Amino acid sequence: MRLGRLAPAAGGRGPAGQGAPAADRFGAAGPARPGRRRRAVRREVRRADARPRRRRRLLRRGPLRRRRRHPRRVHVPVRRAERQVRAEYPRLRAEALAILVHGARDPRETAAFAEGCVRAADEGLAGIDFLYTPYDTEADWTPMYRLAERFAEAGLGITAHAGEVSTANIAAAAAMPGLTRIGHGVHAAADPELMRLLADRGVTLECALTCNAYFGVLPEVDGHPLTKLVEAGVPVTLATDNPVQLGTTIEREYALAAGLGLGPERLADLTRNAIRAAFTSDERKAAMLAELAEAERTRLSGGRGGPATR
Ligand SMILES: [Zn+2]
Repeated sequence: MRLGRLAPAAGGRGPAGQGAPAADRFGAAGPARPGRRRRAVRREVRRADARPRRRRRLLRRGPLRRRRRHPRRVHVPVRRAERQVRAEYPRLRAEALAILVHGARDPRETAAFAEGCVRAADEGLAGIDFLYTPYDTEADWTPMYRLAERFAEAGLGITAHAGEVSTANIAAAAAMPGLTRIGHGVHAAADPELMRLLADRGVTLECALTCNAYFGVLPEVDGHPLTKLVEAGVPVTLATDNPVQLGTTIEREYALAAGLGLGPERLADLTRNAIRAAFTSDERKAAMLAELAEAERTRLSGGRGGPATR
């Protein structure tokens, strides 16, 4: 049971990047680059030449103002979407994350987007997922730490993508103010020091088995170091990442984890980790933990149950 990423489109990575090699898929899928934006503005102004009123308006406000850059009023659409999905999957809970792509954006645009996220913290946005370039070698995290401090102050949960394609950036991410989760982080398994660091700080890894195999960042699912991370005491959860593009479900991810040797108790631990690390209210966490305990009781008494994957 992973919290869905009902992230607002702004700053999200589009499907264009999904087929790209793992190392550069974020760069490739980042939002419009400044050069492209400038060309778009020029094109719009040129097109407006024939229409003086439109031209005046464009010059006054700029065409980019018309684009919604901030994830405003997040709560209502997220809860509506959640209700729709819960009609089929009653145990699902969802919260909205905004994806902040750092390094691929014009710094002013990043600043404006970050301001929007801070405001949206009062409107139902639950957390921020940091993506940055370079992704496969150590990045400069200083500007991201400053932003993370502001987000944490605003009460937003913080996660960052790191350690998906190499061990780079895992330690830097773990030191980020307010960070409690890392997207992927699986390459930490190659370094006992890193695993100890994550275990000591209680940083939860969002492991996406199908995704890792699909992008070839690790050998086939069979060789995934999930159990090694669990044994090292790193809090781990299962995640689908992009379920539609990858053709997976959270149920399937649990089945794959079982195939790696995790028994029902260990799988339930992963669900417990997910609930504890969720960017959601204490009430929701308590309700989910109670549901999990109930499912555990049912399983132990011989009924059908097991980890709450549906
Ligand atoms: Zn991911």
